[in-house]
Amino acid sequence: MKNRVITIHTNDTNVSLKTKKVLTRKLEGSGFIPSDVLEKETELIVCIGGDGALLEGIHKLGFPDIPFIGINTGHLGFFQEISPNQLDDFIFNYKTGKYRLQTLSAVKAVIKNEHGESFEHIGLNEIVIRGEDSHPVHLNISIGGSFIERFSGDGILVATPAGSTAYNYSLGGCIVDPRLTLIQVTPIAPMNTTAYRSFTSSILLPSDLSLGIIPEYMKKHGIKITTDHLEYTYQDLSNISIQFPDKIVNLLRFETYDFWNKVKSKFL
Ligand code: NAP
Ligand code: MN
Repeated sequence: MKNRVITIHTNDTNVSLKTKKVLTRKLEGSGFIPSDVLEKETELIVCIGGDGALLEGIHKLGFPDIPFIGINTGHLGFFQEISPNQLDDFIFNYKTGKYRLQTLSAVKAVIKNEHGESFEHIGLNEIVIRGEDSHPVHLNISIGGSFIERFSGDGILVATPAGSTAYNYSLGGCIVDPRLTLIQVTPIAPMNTTAYRSFTSSILLPSDLSLGIIPEYMKKHGIKITTDHLEYTYQDLSNISIQFPDKIVNLLRFETYDFWNKVKSKFL
């Protein structure tokens, strides 16, 4: 029989570490091989913690296409499918194939600097582009190659459907059903005066259109790019292209999962 390896990523709270211990014992008792690292035979990745632990696991393991499942020991747990008291049901349902995969699209930023170098960052929730300090930024934004607006304000956030319920929602962006394939561009404190004009609402773009961003340089201040919980600062970037990457994230979901019920239970 082939080795059925399940990789476990956890945050370091007491309840997560305790859950990991119990899960490890139960998995071994059911014929699985738990591991702390991604093995060649890993067939499932368990992330114990809150949504942050799931995001961290995905980034740390490099957006593999192996399915993830989250066990919520954290705060909100929007991505997380089960709680620590459902481990037996989880193992039974997984072993007997009673689950489906929810496919989530990611978003990618391709960054070019003035020396012709290029960098890529990928996010599951969102990519945020803002100033390095509290100065407003001026961003020339094109959609599908045509210049559309000169944004002035704190920055812009580009959310995936999966990330629409996170920072995007706090900014007044809309909640998007992850069965839709699109990106949402949400302004962060846009200025609207006779001096500066920017869209004040989110806009939605189809997956085959890329978004181009050329920051206007105020040489002293860099640009900060955030993907989920990770931050990068650039002093010399010349343009950013936001695209759909070929990477997707698969989350294991059980029979009771329904996106809009989850939204209701976590937000209302
Ligand atoms: P964090 O400070 O714990 O995250 C803030 C909250 O967002 C947490 O309650 C987290 O859930 C929740 N969250 C994460 N992804 C979500 C999603 N897809 N839908 C609904 N809620 C979600 O930091 P973190 O746990 O590392 O999460 C990083 C995320 O925080 C970023 O991707 C960004 O979206 C979000 N964020 C929000 C704001 C804001 O709302 N003003 C500002 C900065 C960042 P858990 O409690 O389960 O971790
Ligand atoms: Mn968190």
